Amino acid sequence: MNPTIQELMASLPEQVTHHIQHLERMRQDFVANVSHELRTPLTVIHGYLEALLSQNLEETQPWKKIFTQMQQQTLRMENLIEDLLLLSRLENQGDENADENHINVAALLKTICHDAAEFSGEAKHQIQIEADAKLFLLGNNSELRSLFSNIIFNAVKYTPANGQINIQWNNQGEQASFSVRDTGIGIAAEHIPRITERFYRVDPARSRASGGTGLGLAIAKHVLLRHQAFLTIESELNKGSLFTCVFPKKRVASCHSER
Ligand code: ADP
Repeated sequence: MNPTIQELMASLPEQVTHHIQHLERMRQDFVANVSHELRTPLTVIHGYLEALLSQNLEETQPWKKIFTQMQQQTLRMENLIEDLLLLSRLENQGDENADENHINVAALLKTICHDAAEFSGEAKHQIQIEADAKLFLLGNNSELRSLFSNIIFNAVKYTPANGQINIQWNNQGEQASFSVRDTGIGIAAEHIPRITERFYRVDPARSRASGGTGLGLAIAKHVLLRHQAFLTIESELNKGSLFTCVFPKKRVASCHSER
């Protein structure tokens, strides 16, 4: 079996390890600073485009299509920057626990599914949810929302129109399991081990066209790590995929009333 990153690092001389850690911190800071600096000018451009389009002026009519495309692209860049900033926050916090509460996962999933159905729109995916309303999870609400949304929205993005998406939240022994099964395009076995890497895409053109940032599953991986949970992916090309997140017993709580 190949050694893990931790095992490899432990086998290196201390000076080398320090240098690698220093470079990694520089990389993280660089990405965070660039993302932050790009945010302001982009907000200004987006704001002006929105104003131009909303006024519906006669002079701008011939340019409407171009302005609309520019606005869509700025929105894409904004999403990318938000995801980069979220990812660097998750990386920088390491194992430190952000604000944690007992989360009503069933209620959270209901709102995400509502948004996913809107996102599906004309494609009319059949989104079904089966969630144990008494099963709560100790964790960070916004991190968990990102995790669940990324996996559910991916199911919509990578499943052709009218396909089925089944979401489950229930006990698995003393652990808790969140799973999303879709009838989509599937993922070939050789891609699965790399799918949670930043910007790793099976089909870059398709993923970009579907509006993804390429960071969704990298974010999911970090959120899972911070909740001591793990992800399994089963998939078959042109049949569909099953993404399952398993949370440890210490994070699971049974609640009989809404908190
Ligand atoms: P993206 O923004 O490109 O969707 P993600 O990190 O969320 O980025 O996903 C990485 C890649 O994994 C996607 O580009 C896609 O190729 C693949 N993928 C993720 N979820 C699914 C799914 N449910 N079905 C098929 N492929 C998927």
